[in-house]
Amino acid sequence: MGRAQPCGAFGQLGGLVAPIHGETDRVDIRTEYVVCDLCGSDQYRLLFCARDTRTHLVHCQFPLVQCERCGLVFVNPRPTREELEKLYPPGEYYSLQEPGTMWQGGRGKLKSYAIRFISGRHDTPLAKLGTLLLGRMISVSVPHIQGGRILDIGCGSGAYLDLMQEVGWETYGVEPSEVGAKWARANGHDVFCGELLDATYPPAFFDAILMHHVLEHVPNPGAVLHECHRILKGGGLVLVNVPNFDCYDRVTFAESWDPLDVPRHLYHFSISTLRQALEQAGFEVMRFRYRTWFTSRQFYSSSFRSLKESNSSRRRLVRAYIRTFLLKPVQFLFSMNRGQRFAVTMTAYARKMAEGDESGSHG
Ligand SMILES: [Zn+2]
Repeated sequence: MGRAQPCGAFGQLGGLVAPIHGETDRVDIRTEYVVCDLCGSDQYRLLFCARDTRTHLVHCQFPLVQCERCGLVFVNPRPTREELEKLYPPGEYYSLQEPGTMWQGGRGKLKSYAIRFISGRHDTPLAKLGTLLLGRMISVSVPHIQGGRILDIGCGSGAYLDLMQEVGWETYGVEPSEVGAKWARANGHDVFCGELLDATYPPAFFDAILMHHVLEHVPNPGAVLHECHRILKGGGLVLVNVPNFDCYDRVTFAESWDPLDVPRHLYHFSISTLRQALEQAGFEVMRFRYRTWFTSRQFYSSSFRSLKESNSSRRRLVRAYIRTFLLKPVQFLFSMNRGQRFAVTMTAYARKMAEGDESGSHG
């Protein structure tokens, strides 16, 4: 198979992706071709093209390609680093939570209670039951080990770290936004403002590292995971949470699926490719946890909205309604692999093996 060609109508012109037809007044964006970050192959096939339906900051389509060798899905060509920075306007994309506001209100209080309950108590039967029930309700993942140093990559204003500090962790963060880093520091967390690779933490420094919706954004996920492995202690945990490209909803909504978030999401992981990426960095994958988002009204409304905006046929829209509200719940009930195909997001729990540790002895 040869190199994938960008969609005909939006052909690539000397490092620029042409704007979509009828919107020629929009500014073009500089792009670059990349090889597969996972296996280095330059053989890939075009899956489909998608555009920025979340912020509408850039009005052209981006090809999503799949590596012929390892199956990794990524945006190619993609915006250059300089262009990417412009696609995260402060206050518009990730609206930072003001310190102290995240755990207020009914839902926030419930979440913070769940995190406190689950933290550091994985051994007792009650905690296992609590993890099973409460863990499904909260969108953040909790390391099931007690205390030590924890690093939250992309920590924002440090709301998650606030809770981790409360349950006994020594808290560190990496945050590219200066406002976020400032707020998190004000709450007593040790925050590096920038990117992980520039933070140069000492080797074997952390007991746990959390990456909540980070890996799909970085231009170099392999390098980031290798760095995590280097700065984790033997036996340390890394929790990686990303959207699940192989899920039922993605097939239903295709290029209109809200969590695609093209072109800010440069990589689109499946269970298999996330596992490969972690193992290549030296981790032992212990388990996956899946979240189905059945209750996320906002997510569905934005997926349906972008389906309508994409001038889809009426038939396609009706089919999406039927699949989402009729077929999906029925299939979910009778599905054997309930987690995997219905999981909109997934969290991998992986461990850096301790020295002299043999594989297979799960913690
Ligand atoms: Zn590959």
